[in-house]
Amino acid sequence: MQAGFKKLAVIGVGLIGGSLGLACKQRGLGIQIAGYGRSEERLRLALELGAVDSFQTDFTQGWQDVDLVILATPVGLIIPILRQIAPYLPQGAIVSDVGSTKGEIVAAAEQILPEGVYFVGAHPIAGTEKSGVEAAFPSLFENANCIITPTTRTNISALQRVQNLWRMLGSEVILMDVQEHDFALAAVSHLPHVIAYSLVNTVLELEDKGKPLIPLSGGGFRDFTRIAESDPVMWRDICLSNKDNLCRVIDHFQTQLTKMKTWIQTADGNSLSEEFLKAKTVKTGNQKPAAARPAVFLDRDGTINEENSYLTQVEKLRIIPHAVEAIKKINANGLKAVVLTNQSAIARGYMNEEALTRIHHRLKQILADSGAYLDGIYYCPHHPDQNCDCRKPSAGMLLAAAKDLRIDLKRSFMVGDKISDIRLGHNLGLTSVLVLTGYGKSEQDKLAGEKIQPDYIAEDLNQAVEWILSRVR
Ligand code: NAP
Repeated sequence: MQAGFKKLAVIGVGLIGGSLGLACKQRGLGIQIAGYGRSEERLRLALELGAVDSFQTDFTQGWQDVDLVILATPVGLIIPILRQIAPYLPQGAIVSDVGSTKGEIVAAAEQILPEGVYFVGAHPIAGTEKSGVEAAFPSLFENANCIITPTTRTNISALQRVQNLWRMLGSEVILMDVQEHDFALAAVSHLPHVIAYSLVNTVLELEDKGKPLIPLSGGGFRDFTRIAESDPVMWRDICLSNKDNLCRVIDHFQTQLTKMKTWIQTADGNSLSEEFLKAKTVKTGNQKPAAARPAVFLDRDGTINEENSYLTQVEKLRIIPHAVEAIKKINANGLKAVVLTNQSAIARGYMNEEALTRIHHRLKQILADSGAYLDGIYYCPHHPDQNCDCRKPSAGMLLAAAKDLRIDLKRSFMVGDKISDIRLGHNLGLTSVLVLTGYGKSEQDKLAGEKIQPDYIAEDLNQAVEWILSRVR
């Protein structure tokens, strides 16, 4: 499938810019990807992870043959960078962005860009709380909306080409007026972030005055802390560039909060329950859930790489023959490929999280070199005695991945070389496959005494994936 672009310059190869590069490659769009950024080291990592084909830190260089530019830095840098690159852009090039606010950016771009260079503002409604190219993954934009904000000055052909690109990446394109976009996003995205930051800080301040409160929190508070983990620079820029709309919706929110406080003070239970019911109906009745996709969850040690005890040095990473081909087949058949790995070596003090991150970079790099991509790697750093809820066969890692990556668990598979992998799959209703690599053969011997059995036993990951694909086709 060709996207009709020869060379894409991604400026800011972080979560969104990196995922864009990975998605173009995974879908075989035939676009050469040049990354631009401020740090050679970070861009080299993007190259190693397969998100770009080349990189530049000098924004005055490398523009020949570029026919599409996508700005993916924090919002506050998009206009200054546009000014900087405008003199070098080839005639006919299309410039777009992924910024979370559109008003200031679209107006400035239409002023700054020279005649014959076309701007189309865009905002993919996709992301996670993580930042940087190490958090990028190729299926980020699948089944997500991408809002495109044309104006009366937008070139129609450029608009159609940008729309086509996002559709080819699996997104649903929505065309929207710039102002309408900024008001809507102030309400459904920027306000929730402001509330999450305020709420978490409120609890922190209350903690200062007495006993610790956060250890007592449950899932509800954790949802807010997850949002509050988002990058502070990115959210500072978003708030400042959408200030009027955001202040309007904050005013609404304050009125709403005051109303609730009054009902609580006056013990007006009827008003409170009516209000709660109204919110509940919106959540369950009117929201269209994003279409979820099945995944193949993969154990790491003994399933993808040869070392099946503690892999603590990146130099010792060796991929099992055919595992790369197997992951390519998972990618090509529209399933997500997600690694789940217990890494108690960290709790045991055999390595730190930095060393583990290096191993995971290298794993992604080896796979990307052969055109195979992982949608995520999740690990549990705890000791078995800690009884955490993430260590396999507990469900924490798998459920976190399912939530982050919009995975349809009922149609998903778990593949591993340990009985704990099979138990995890079974406990969550997944189809599970034991591979006879790694500890597989000795684990197979123990199956006789087990209540839970794998749905299939395969010689290796490749055979496991062949079997899985025969079930989903
Ligand atoms: P990110 O992971 O932090 O990536 C930002 C990128 O910009 C990084 O590669 C960073 O380089 C680069 N950058 C930062 N300062 C720079 C500078 N002075 N010069 C050149 N490059 C610089 O953030 P992200 O989540 O991908 O967000 C990028 C854009 O997408 C933002 O405009 C955001 O509003 C928008 N967006 C985000 C989401 C989301 O949920 N995350 C969703 C939709 C749209 P380094 O690697 O050197 O730090």
